[in-house]
Amino acid sequence: MSHNSDQVKEAALFMQEHDRFLVLSHVNPDGDATGSALGVCLMLEKMGKEYIVVNEGETPAKFSFLPRFDLLRNLSEESLDDTFGAVIAVDCADESRMGDVRSLFASGAVLLNIDHHPTNDGFGTVNLIRTDAAATAEILYDVAIAAGVSFDEELALCVYTGLLTDTGGFRYSNTSPRVMEIASKLLHYGVKPGDVAERCLEEITFAHVKILRRALQTLTLSHQNLVASITVRPEDFVQENAAREDAGGLVNYCRNIEGVEVGVSFVESEPGVIKVSMRARDRVDVSAIAKHFGGGGHAKAAGCTMRGNLADVQSKVWQVLGEAVGVKVDE
Ligand code: AMP
Ligand code: MN
Ligand code: MN
Repeated sequence: MSHNSDQVKEAALFMQEHDRFLVLSHVNPDGDATGSALGVCLMLEKMGKEYIVVNEGETPAKFSFLPRFDLLRNLSEESLDDTFGAVIAVDCADESRMGDVRSLFASGAVLLNIDHHPTNDGFGTVNLIRTDAAATAEILYDVAIAAGVSFDEELALCVYTGLLTDTGGFRYSNTSPRVMEIASKLLHYGVKPGDVAERCLEEITFAHVKILRRALQTLTLSHQNLVASITVRPEDFVQENAAREDAGGLVNYCRNIEGVEVGVSFVESEPGVIKVSMRARDRVDVSAIAKHFGGGGHAKAAGCTMRGNLADVQSKVWQVLGEAVGVKVDE
């Protein structure tokens, strides 16, 4: 049942050929990024390889149930006096998504790029990009098989977490028969689906609820009710003693409103830096809009980070969204 393409074999070979690796995912990592990065670590261990796993910033504590979570190094808290000649990047749509971890690349470093974003620009030395995959973890499943790595509960948990989170709990349109087949196989290794869903999807922090309460006050409909927007300002984080990860998932409240084609959240966690997340229903490819603003993603879920004054950023995004839905922002 595995997709053993030439690229998958090449990725497995990359892991076999080198001995010491830098493993990384993208800035502000999600469940697929974290599950895939730690899954790669487990595979390397089974292959007798050395590795270090690093991200630019903190990884959300909600993923601390994953194996090897404690090994994740946070570059914004500790500097690492080392460089690496072999790098494995997972779930990164482009080079900039790797953030400051790029400072750990040795000159002439070779990079294996495993990803599923249609906006991936093939920045690796070896590129394994499958846009038909629901999650990077789905691709990793095939790499593990091609590399001859045996699955156990820990590796299965990492892959399952990527599949679960990037399909929104097996609900989004990327939930293919293959996703369900792989998930079923992973459950046989002992993954407890109720426990993983509780940690990744159900349990929320009180700070999240407090940010949500404020954000909902800002919810506005525009473009003849085809676009719904929500905004979080730096003072919301300060006053609610909340972290950036506490603002995750707000955009879904916008997109889920009946009749809305695009939901968008503007999260300004520090003054002048605005994380824009977009979710589409049917008609709009939000990855094209995110790409226009220097970001990327998938047709139905995409994002970008914009700098400047909030009102200017909003008006730029709303204007492009207007072209996409065929209705001007003020109509
Ligand atoms: P988010 O809105 O952050 O949940 O992201 C939605 C999707 O867009 C995910 O697949 C992200 O990996 C992708 N994405 C978000 N921000 C960016 C960015 N700045 N550049 C490229 N892809 C992004
Ligand atoms: Mn991701
Ligand atoms: Mn992903």
